[in-house]
Amino acid sequence: MSESIGQMKFCFRDSASFGGLTERWHMKKIGLIGGMSWESSQIYYQLVNQKVKEALGGFHSARCVMDSVDFAEIERLQMVDDWEAMSTLMAASAQNLEKAGADIVVLCTNTMHLCSDAIKASINIPFLHIAEATARRIKAQGLKKVLLLGTRFTMEKAFFKDILSKDFGIEVIIPNKADRSLVHDVIYEELVLGKISDTSRKVYQEIIAAGAEAGAEGAILGCTEIPLLIQQEHVQIPVFETTRIHAEAAVGFALA
Ligand code: GLU
Repeated sequence: MSESIGQMKFCFRDSASFGGLTERWHMKKIGLIGGMSWESSQIYYQLVNQKVKEALGGFHSARCVMDSVDFAEIERLQMVDDWEAMSTLMAASAQNLEKAGADIVVLCTNTMHLCSDAIKASINIPFLHIAEATARRIKAQGLKKVLLLGTRFTMEKAFFKDILSKDFGIEVIIPNKADRSLVHDVIYEELVLGKISDTSRKVYQEIIAAGAEAGAEGAILGCTEIPLLIQQEHVQIPVFETTRIHAEAAVGFALA
């Protein structure tokens, strides 16, 4: 450990005359817990690199490491509501990232933030919560009431909604029971398998329109695969893509 710190110091001093190289050593390493699903993890990888390139230009790319799990195992545990087992898996993954030199842990799924407490307790580096990053963005845009779309876990349990309402004073509404089932089923039967369907896009558009009628000023795409189906151009109210917002916040941290 002390050796590697010594080595890094040497690099800082030694690289001073090599222009961009110095910045590279200052960039923090983003740790990504991926695979839930890999369809959205690849978007995270693309976004963090695009953002770093935009910010630093030239040949710059993100310093990052991904620990990617097998989604079949996670999906099986979700179906039996075994959040304890999933917390153990997520904590182990976060520890792998810390051991790999990550400076922050970014969990590339909304739903699995149900395991946030176990993750935070298992590492000594910061954990970047997706709902906090999203709430900050909504607050910055001055919106007071939003529709939340995601898996049934994300829409129905408190872990995501409470951060928005209790910590940021943002009112969160969710679709009715039948519509929640539709939103959830499209995620598990299509999006995580990489299937994009016009029929499902129409269903989502109608659900978002109903939310707008119920007073939602914006819609949170609170599942990291939803942006594969719905983009801003498809709906009337502003959308908040948790995937993009989270990835951008991670780069903000890495370059701060
Ligand atoms: N990626 C999704 C999310 O953001 C769903 C898959 C999962 O259960 O992790 O919630």
